[in-house]
Amino acid sequence: EIYTLSLHDALPILVDEDAAMDAIRVENMAARYERLVKAFFQSFQDKELAALSEQQEELKRDADIDPLTRVYNKKYYLSYLRRLRQGERTDLSRLTILMTDIDDFKRYNDTYGHQQGDECLRTVAQTLADCAVPYDGKVMRYGGEEFLVALENRGLTEGTAMANDVRKRLEMLHIPHSAARRRDYVTISIGIAEERRSLADGIDELIERSDEALYIAKRAGGNQAACDFTVKARRTGA
Ligand code: GH3
Ligand code: MG
Ligand code: MG
Repeated sequence: EIYTLSLHDALPILVDEDAAMDAIRVENMAARYERLVKAFFQSFQDKELAALSEQQEELKRDADIDPLTRVYNKKYYLSYLRRLRQGERTDLSRLTILMTDIDDFKRYNDTYGHQQGDECLRTVAQTLADCAVPYDGKVMRYGGEEFLVALENRGLTEGTAMANDVRKRLEMLHIPHSAARRRDYVTISIGIAEERRSLADGIDELIERSDEALYIAKRAGGNQAACDFTVKARRTGA
């Protein structure tokens, strides 16, 4: 036997069916409204969380960036080298370092003022960053007017090519430097060294070698790159 219940039976408190239907409609609307509000707050919360995590990412990135030149800073550079030293990078079979230094930069500051010196640093850093792109190189501010470029899985050939590209671009920019000893525009010197053995313990030595090559480039008159060929000598057993 089939029982059919009228709304009067189901909801004995309510006086008629219309009122009952209204009550149900109101209840449905309330439920829908609640769902909408929940969805709204959920999406709001999601957006807030996304914005927060983006902000955090940005902060993290900023912590690694030199505010003046917008290339990686010393903090990043040190952690980068530590990671290499600890042999964390298994995909890295060789590493080429370019140590760069602006020629006669003290004289530049003395002549044009510190603020214009800062502007010059920015231009040099940007030029390095642009030239590093084809090699996926990382540019880091090593010291005041010294930048270190790390070319992963690249050799002296690419290092030299990049160094000459940077020099040429700076020559084209032709930033006036009336106090420079040899030229009348801003130039840089570059020391290049490559490491091919296990990179785990060769990092300090690699930087030292690039520094020595830089010194040779400076002594030879600046505005040039010098290579350390130690890696080749080792490879051939000489
Ligand atoms: P060299 O050709 O042998 O490299 O000589 P140099 O004058 O470039 O080298 P030196 O190391 O004597 O001078 C570096 C100068 O860099 C000194 C310092 O005032 C300047 N410097 C370092 N950091 C900054 C900076 O953040 N802003 C500015 N404007 N100058 C800086
Ligand atoms: Mg210097
Ligand atoms: Mg210098």
